[in-house]
Amino acid sequence: MAKTTKKPPKKSPRAAKSRPAISRLAKGISRSVHAGRGTDPARVKAILEKLNEAYPAATCALKHHNAFQLLIATILSAQCTDERVNMVTPGLFEKYPNPQAFAYANPADIQNEIRSTGFYRNKTKSIIGASKKIVEEFHGEVPRTMEELLTLPGVARKTANVVLGCAFGIASGVVVDTHVLRLSGRLDLTKNTDPKKVELDLMKIIPQDRWILFSHQLIWHGRRVCKARNPRCIECNLEKLCYSKDKTV
Ligand code: SF4
Repeated sequence: MAKTTKKPPKKSPRAAKSRPAISRLAKGISRSVHAGRGTDPARVKAILEKLNEAYPAATCALKHHNAFQLLIATILSAQCTDERVNMVTPGLFEKYPNPQAFAYANPADIQNEIRSTGFYRNKTKSIIGASKKIVEEFHGEVPRTMEELLTLPGVARKTANVVLGCAFGIASGVVVDTHVLRLSGRLDLTKNTDPKKVELDLMKIIPQDRWILFSHQLIWHGRRVCKARNPRCIECNLEKLCYSKDKTV
């Protein structure tokens, strides 16, 4: 009896055409997920270089003469512009020159002084609470570790990072304010939107010796060019590296 060979079922022309396309797409997706398109080291390096070109001397905009003043100014800067804080702090620091002066001050007096910065009742509580703790538990000195700073009333990671970075030059994290949050997303350096997670993502891809400068540079870029509404992409030196849906060019 002659042996019969079973023929394979015929592929429909449509299936034959779409399969390679699907597999190419799947490969592309998987490659971008695993390689992290936005966080590719060469791309991150290029972004850091461009930021260095544009803002080589970016620094903290809050006026201060010591770590304690910077701590108070940063507490005041919540939900407020640095310009407004800088209008309030010279008079405030003249009246309350050290942690002792703030710690035992009349809350109503401080409230009056800082009213224009908004949320003045809560900020007064934080300022008095933090000052008391500094006087009573840290010998009148602002502590120099993240763990200790986080024990001060009104101090979360953002404030602690500002103080450690700007006052002491200690890179313990990346300051994630509203600008850093927005720009990290636009530049596809993170998929997260929670500031703590964004900070962890940035700490993984930015070299530690750039953490302090990087956050200042992103804040400056966010204020000057990559604004929340209508970013000035035409003036942006990161434009070729950016594929944000918010781009205006
Ligand atoms: S190109 Fe536009 S959206 Fe992208 S970083 Fe620059 S200003 Fe921001």
